[in-house]
Amino acid sequence: MRASDSPNGNTPFVDAQSTEVEAILRVLREGERFLVCSHSRPDGDAVGSMLAMGMLLEQMGKRADLVTADRIPAVYRGLPGAAAIRTAMRVHGPYDAAILLECDSLERTRLLGLEPFYILNIDHHASGSEWGRLNWIDREAASVGEMVYRLVKAAGATMTPEIATCLYTTVLTDTGGFLYGATRAATFRLAQKLVEEGADPIQIAQDVYFSSSPAKMKLLGMALRTLQLEEELAWLWITHEDMVRSNAAEEDCEGIVNYALSIAGVEAAVFLRELPEGRIRLSLRGKGWLNVAEIATALGGGGHENAAGCTLDGPLHQAREEVLDRMRQRLMETR
Ligand code: 5GP
Ligand code: MN
Repeated sequence: MRASDSPNGNTPFVDAQSTEVEAILRVLREGERFLVCSHSRPDGDAVGSMLAMGMLLEQMGKRADLVTADRIPAVYRGLPGAAAIRTAMRVHGPYDAAILLECDSLERTRLLGLEPFYILNIDHHASGSEWGRLNWIDREAASVGEMVYRLVKAAGATMTPEIATCLYTTVLTDTGGFLYGATRAATFRLAQKLVEEGADPIQIAQDVYFSSSPAKMKLLGMALRTLQLEEELAWLWITHEDMVRSNAAEEDCEGIVNYALSIAGVEAAVFLRELPEGRIRLSLRGKGWLNVAEIATALGGGGHENAAGCTLDGPLHQAREEVLDRMRQRLMETR
């Protein structure tokens, strides 16, 4: 399919969602081969929605290649079909379209070679924008998996237990176990449907939340020793040396920021991690009052109102002061 033949999903507001779903399904029906990608350092929503999208395409009789820039975290490797996800730095091939899930920009994929493809951008980030050729952005969706669920239903495909398992994982992890901002009544209705359709909530919870490596616990201990508190702000960090000493993997940093946020009276929290090359990865979290996506976006990153991230230049103390200054200022302005 040539790009010029393709439907334009930008029609605003008039039943926007179903218009976009239809436009996406038209592209899926017309094409034969698809590339399915998500952001680098994939999380539960990235992995689960890619796998479900792959299974939807398979049911439609299409070919799909699933590619991410980084290996998928160990806790998601047991998901149905997970072994098929390839890790690559560059993509190429005779694809009719590339389906990008959960990416608020092309750069977030950290994949080279995507530019020439007809890109379907399916996202739910506050920082999401219409950067693709066909865009469906639903900031209300608890996960991109929820959007894939709507595609599966609209396509008339079968919601298999395998798809339900992948999609339940996206909802569970992107709401932090039904704890965060995007959790609403509809989220529980979706979870209920997915369980009725074969997702096992106990098994999935165990796979995701009760499968930590011993190294992760060691790393958490190191991070907690750095914990600092200042009024409504809390922060903690991990140096590259800590990573080496604890023998931790990158994915073992997942969730550490929540320990800082869990303190009573803390409104926003930051976790900083020194990368091997000296730059600093930041995870920002808020309880709802402070929009951390705004702060992360201003620093070159993005995310959701309650959960966002970015990467800054080192050294660590400089990145820390930079983000804290912005957060103090925003807290003062919002008060
Ligand atoms: P985390 O702190 O768990 O890495 O990320 C929290 C949220 O912020 C996720 O939705 C993630 O996609 C988004 N995020 C994290 N880092 C970045 C970044 O560097 N750029 C953008 N655009 N989004 C990010
Ligand atoms: Mn997500």
